[in-house]
Amino acid sequence: MYGEQITEKLAELREDSAALIAVYDPDDRLRYANAAFRDTYHVEPGETPTWAELMRRNWLAGRGAIIAHPDMEAWLASAISRRGKVKRRAFESDLVDGRWLWIVETVHADGWMLFLATDITELRREERELRQLRDFATRASQTDELTEISNRRHMWSMLETLLKGEHVSGSREGCLCLFDLDFFKQINDRYGHQAGDRVLIDFSRTVQNSIRLRDGFGRIGGEEFMLLMPDTSIANAKKIIDRLFDAVHQRRPLSNAPDFSYTFSAGLAEIRADDTAEAVYSRADLALYTAKHEGRDRLTLAA
Ligand code: GH3
Ligand code: MG
Ligand code: MG
Repeated sequence: MYGEQITEKLAELREDSAALIAVYDPDDRLRYANAAFRDTYHVEPGETPTWAELMRRNWLAGRGAIIAHPDMEAWLASAISRRGKVKRRAFESDLVDGRWLWIVETVHADGWMLFLATDITELRREERELRQLRDFATRASQTDELTEISNRRHMWSMLETLLKGEHVSGSREGCLCLFDLDFFKQINDRYGHQAGDRVLIDFSRTVQNSIRLRDGFGRIGGEEFMLLMPDTSIANAKKIIDRLFDAVHQRRPLSNAPDFSYTFSAGLAEIRADDTAEAVYSRADLALYTAKHEGRDRLTLAA
């Protein structure tokens, strides 16, 4: 009886709270938002936008969070590279209306996320600039400059985290896939280096749009990428990558060469109980080498 009463009271208080409270599902769709959250981010009761949709539409309307980046899609790519991948995360965020929020995100093993934010506009103003610079430096150290997805260092640290059993999924299992774009030198030679850069960005966006929030995806070299799929069987990983092939085959990223399309090769390895990062990486790399050798535009599973 008492328990039920508390649940009911909690629901009422939650709605009235000055703190912004929201819950996102594993697909990053907003499933609950209290009045304070709905006011700040302009959500109607019962609406369920994804986090990216919400950010994008507030940015277009010139409200919500301040996006200090000239390219909204690049900003989203960078933010998604860090979102939903650790159990707890806290950071400051400034809003167009002048308020500062302290945001705490909590992610469960099943992928559901609790968002909590409080107004800290009046708190510790003096050191704010310093804290912003620190956050900016941390983000920059994890981000690939061209594509704005995770860089090699961030991918490697995500892999180490998973192998230590400290990933948000609670699992130590999963799959690692390496990608390398096919005949990329020819693309540069034929269409120019800038077109090559556009292809790298196109590949990054296309892959990021078809993976799950908890997956890690980054550029680890020139035209080489890594996808980390925690808590995923080899059969499911294969399905995800088959979908990527379909998505990439349909891309036509060069506006001055409308027929141009590109392909990639992939090597997939399953993480073993006693794996080190180097061991699983080299199995995936060997599989990638085989995919290239056997004709490219294909996936090879590690032996
Ligand atoms: P393969 O199918 O065997 O992978 O052939 P490839 O031509 O893709 O392989 P290779 O490794 O010989 O060429 C990679 C090229 O990627 C060479 C390099 O000039 C280019 N590259 C590396 N980084 C960048 C970049 O940031 N932008 C652009 N446009 N090109 C890059
Ligand atoms: Mg290469
Ligand atoms: Mg290549």
